Amino acid sequence: MVDSTRLAKVYGNPTVEPLAWERKNMVVWKLPPLIDLAIPELPSKIYMHKKFVPVVEKWFNALIEAGVSHEINTFDGCWNVRTKRGLRSLSIHAWGMAVDLNASHNPLGLTREQCLKRGLIPFTEKFISVSRKFVDCGADWTTRPDLMHFQIKGAQAYGPDPI
Ligand SMILES: [Zn+2]
Repeated sequence: MVDSTRLAKVYGNPTVEPLAWERKNMVVWKLPPLIDLAIPELPSKIYMHKKFVPVVEKWFNALIEAGVSHEINTFDGCWNVRTKRGLRSLSIHAWGMAVDLNASHNPLGLTREQCLKRGLIPFTEKFISVSRKFVDCGADWTTRPDLMHFQIKGAQAYGPDPI
Protein backbone atom coordinates (compact mmCIF):
# COMPACT_ATOMS: atom_id res chain seq x y z
CA MET A 1 0.00 0.00 0.00
CA VAL A 2 1.23 3.50 -0.73
CA ASP A 3 2.37 5.59 2.19
CA SER A 4 2.99 9.29 2.48
CA THR A 5 6.69 8.96 3.32
CA ARG A 6 7.50 7.06 0.14
CA LEU A 7 5.19 9.18 -2.01
CA ALA A 8 7.03 12.26 -0.74
CA LYS A 9 10.35 10.68 -1.72
CA VAL A 10 9.20 9.75 -5.22
CA TYR A 11 6.94 12.70 -6.09
CA GLY A 12 7.99 15.37 -3.61
CA ASN A 13 6.05 16.82 -0.71
CA PRO A 14 3.03 18.81 -1.96
CA THR A 15 3.26 21.20 1.00
CA VAL A 16 6.80 22.26 0.06
CA GLU A 17 6.80 24.79 -2.79
CA PRO A 18 3.15 23.91 -3.42
CA LEU A 19 2.72 25.86 -6.67
CA ALA A 20 5.74 24.27 -8.32
CA TRP A 21 4.63 20.86 -7.04
CA GLU A 22 1.15 21.36 -8.46
CA ARG A 23 2.41 22.44 -11.86
CA LYS A 24 4.69 19.43 -12.13
CA ASN A 25 2.23 16.77 -10.95
CA MET A 26 -1.41 17.73 -11.35
CA VAL A 27 -3.54 17.64 -14.51
CA VAL A 28 -7.16 18.29 -15.41
CA TRP A 29 -8.56 14.96 -16.55
CA LYS A 30 -11.44 15.44 -18.94
CA LEU A 31 -13.55 12.33 -18.65
CA PRO A 32 -13.87 10.32 -21.87
CA PRO A 33 -17.42 10.62 -23.32
CA LEU A 34 -18.30 7.01 -22.48
CA ILE A 35 -17.57 7.49 -18.78
CA ASP A 36 -19.08 10.97 -18.73
CA LEU A 37 -22.35 9.63 -20.16
CA ALA A 38 -22.47 6.43 -18.12
CA ILE A 39 -21.79 8.12 -14.77
CA PRO A 40 -23.39 11.58 -14.99
CA GLU A 41 -22.97 12.04 -11.22
CA LEU A 42 -19.23 12.51 -11.77
CA PRO A 43 -17.89 15.94 -12.72
CA SER A 44 -16.87 16.18 -16.38
CA LYS A 45 -13.36 17.18 -15.33
CA ILE A 46 -11.39 15.95 -12.34
CA TYR A 47 -8.17 17.56 -11.15
CA MET A 48 -5.82 14.71 -10.16
CA HIS A 49 -2.25 13.46 -10.25
CA LYS A 50 -1.20 12.60 -13.80
CA LYS A 51 -0.09 9.16 -12.65
CA PHE A 52 -3.57 8.40 -11.31
CA VAL A 53 -5.44 9.26 -14.55
CA PRO A 54 -4.89 5.97 -16.47
CA VAL A 55 -5.68 4.00 -13.31
CA VAL A 56 -9.00 5.74 -12.72
CA GLU A 57 -9.95 5.53 -16.39
CA LYS A 58 -9.50 1.73 -16.41
CA TRP A 59 -11.28 1.41 -13.06
CA PHE A 60 -14.34 3.44 -14.13
CA ASN A 61 -14.54 1.53 -17.40
CA ALA A 62 -14.48 -1.74 -15.47
CA LEU A 63 -17.28 -0.51 -13.17
CA ILE A 64 -19.38 0.31 -16.22
CA GLU A 65 -18.65 -3.08 -17.81
CA ALA A 66 -19.55 -4.90 -14.59
CA GLY A 67 -22.85 -3.02 -14.35
CA VAL A 68 -22.13 -1.36 -11.00
CA SER A 69 -21.25 2.20 -12.06
CA HIS A 70 -24.82 3.33 -11.24
CA GLU A 71 -23.89 2.92 -7.56
CA ILE A 72 -21.85 6.14 -7.77
CA ASN A 73 -24.14 8.93 -6.58
CA THR A 74 -21.76 11.61 -5.38
CA PHE A 75 -18.16 12.62 -6.09
CA ASP A 76 -16.64 13.79 -2.82
CA GLY A 77 -13.20 14.90 -3.85
CA CYS A 78 -9.78 13.93 -5.13
CA TRP A 79 -7.02 16.48 -4.56
CA ASN A 80 -6.94 17.99 -1.11
CA VAL A 81 -3.70 18.88 0.65
CA ARG A 82 -4.49 17.78 4.19
CA THR A 83 -3.47 15.27 6.83
CA LYS A 84 -5.40 12.03 7.29
CA ARG A 85 -8.46 12.72 9.45
CA GLY A 86 -7.37 12.57 13.06
CA LEU A 87 -3.79 11.68 12.13
CA ARG A 88 -0.57 13.62 11.51
CA SER A 89 0.67 12.09 8.25
CA LEU A 90 -0.41 13.58 4.93
CA SER A 91 -3.42 11.95 3.25
CA ILE A 92 -2.93 10.28 -0.15
CA HIS A 93 -5.43 12.95 -1.29
CA ALA A 94 -2.59 15.45 -0.82
CA TRP A 95 -0.96 13.85 -3.90
CA GLY A 96 -4.20 13.73 -5.89
CA MET A 97 -3.97 9.93 -5.94
CA ALA A 98 -7.21 9.09 -4.11
CA VAL A 99 -10.92 9.72 -4.63
CA ASP A 100 -13.87 9.69 -2.26
CA LEU A 101 -17.27 8.58 -3.54
CA ASN A 102 -20.74 8.42 -1.90
CA ALA A 103 -19.34 9.84 1.34
CA SER A 104 -22.69 10.27 3.09
CA HIS A 105 -23.56 6.57 2.78
CA ASN A 106 -20.02 5.28 3.41
CA PRO A 107 -18.81 7.24 6.44
CA LEU A 108 -15.26 6.93 7.75
CA GLY A 109 -14.83 4.32 10.47
CA LEU A 110 -17.86 2.16 9.69
CA THR A 111 -17.82 -1.31 8.12
CA ARG A 112 -20.37 -2.30 5.46
CA GLU A 113 -22.37 -4.17 8.08
CA GLN A 114 -22.42 -1.15 10.41
CA CYS A 115 -23.52 1.09 7.53
CA LEU A 116 -26.34 -1.31 6.67
CA LYS A 117 -27.46 -1.48 10.29
CA ARG A 118 -27.76 2.30 10.32
CA GLY A 119 -29.96 2.23 7.26
CA LEU A 120 -27.27 3.57 4.94
CA ILE A 121 -26.62 2.23 1.43
CA PRO A 122 -22.88 1.43 1.26
CA PHE A 123 -21.16 0.20 -1.90
CA THR A 124 -22.04 -3.40 -2.71
CA GLU A 125 -19.48 -6.15 -2.32
CA LYS A 126 -19.48 -6.49 -6.10
CA PHE A 127 -18.57 -2.81 -6.50
CA ILE A 128 -15.71 -3.24 -4.02
CA SER A 129 -14.45 -6.48 -5.58
CA VAL A 130 -14.35 -4.95 -9.09
CA SER A 131 -12.63 -1.84 -7.68
CA ARG A 132 -10.04 -3.89 -5.80
CA LYS A 133 -8.45 -5.01 -9.09
CA PHE A 134 -7.58 -1.41 -9.97
CA VAL A 135 -7.28 0.58 -6.74
CA ASP A 136 -6.78 -0.01 -3.03
CA CYS A 137 -10.12 0.22 -1.25
CA GLY A 138 -10.53 1.84 2.15
CA ALA A 139 -13.24 -0.78 2.71
CA ASP A 140 -10.42 -3.29 3.23
CA TRP A 141 -8.71 -1.37 6.04
CA THR A 142 -9.21 -3.29 9.23
CA THR A 143 -8.11 -0.75 11.84
CA ARG A 144 -10.24 2.06 10.45
CA PRO A 145 -12.42 1.24 7.45
CA ASP A 146 -12.99 4.11 4.99
CA LEU A 147 -15.59 2.82 2.54
CA MET A 148 -15.83 6.04 0.53
CA HIS A 149 -12.06 6.01 -0.17
CA PHE A 150 -10.20 4.53 -3.17
CA GLN A 151 -6.50 5.15 -3.83
CA ILE A 152 -3.65 4.28 -6.17
CA LYS A 153 -1.91 0.94 -5.60
CA GLY A 154 1.77 0.87 -4.69
CA ALA A 155 2.80 -0.85 -7.92
CA GLN A 156 1.08 1.86 -9.96
CA ALA A 157 2.57 4.70 -7.96
CA TYR A 158 6.12 3.38 -7.68
CA GLY A 159 6.47 0.93 -10.57
CA PRO A 160 8.15 2.01 -13.80
CA ASP A 161 4.83 1.89 -15.68
CA PRO A 162 1.26 2.48 -14.61
CA ILE A 163 -0.97 -0.56 -15.31
ZN1 LIG B 1 -10.43 9.59 0.94
